[in-house]
Amino acid sequence: MRTQIAAANWKMNLTLQEGEALLKGILSKIQEPKTHQRVVFAVPAPYLQAAANMIKGKKNIHISAQNIYNKKSGAYTGEISVDMLRSINIDYTIIGHSERREYFNESNTFLAEKINIALANDICPIFCCGEPLSVREANKQDAFVAKQLEESLFHLSADALKKVVIAYEPIWAIGTGKTATSRQAQEIQQYLRSLIAKKYDAKIADEISILYGGSVKAANAKELFSQPDIDGGLVGGASLVEDEFVSIISALK
Ligand code: PEP
Repeated sequence: MRTQIAAANWKMNLTLQEGEALLKGILSKIQEPKTHQRVVFAVPAPYLQAAANMIKGKKNIHISAQNIYNKKSGAYTGEISVDMLRSINIDYTIIGHSERREYFNESNTFLAEKINIALANDICPIFCCGEPLSVREANKQDAFVAKQLEESLFHLSADALKKVVIAYEPIWAIGTGKTATSRQAQEIQQYLRSLIAKKYDAKIADEISILYGGSVKAANAKELFSQPDIDGGLVGGASLVEDEFVSIISALK
């Protein structure tokens, strides 16, 4: 079975003490994820090391950055490098979240550089893609997400692409309480997989985890995750609520 992932995105929320209490509470309530499952916590940068210490020795649980820079080191005040992450044993990062694209003008080609530097340094990228409401209303979502994959991922070799996790996150469903129906999410995620099959091959397409993100919560996780092309979720708001995220984890296939 493909790797199934429940990824929490805390965004710019919680103090260190609140974050530690949340993580501690969740860890105390979950079983060790199965071999084909991963639980990932994308915490704010100042808490990465503390969070990494809290999961030390736990199998299939990872701490993730929410962003990285596309350069190794240098005069880039305020940015986070892959070497910094590696030095504190962080092996995941989100890349291209719609909030980064919107508020920090991150383009597909810039994100391709971040993907490259993450993969070259053994950091697993969770690459986000997804269309805004206007595009969905015009029924042009397929072409929109295809371009995002083409410009940020499809320069990769097959071996490199296999190491990427994709998160389909329709922007109109992020933080809005409006979830894509499981049918809408399944349809477009199947389409994303078909693009990978066309560009690479069916075997590679079948191996890549594609998460859904956009108002996932305990009440809809099981239904969404039961779809054949949905391999778990990237979760914002509900990941800040202990019992919500615990039950989202338990909804993984
Ligand atoms: C997200 O932050 O990626 C997200 C999907 O947020 P929410 O679950 O709050 O919609």
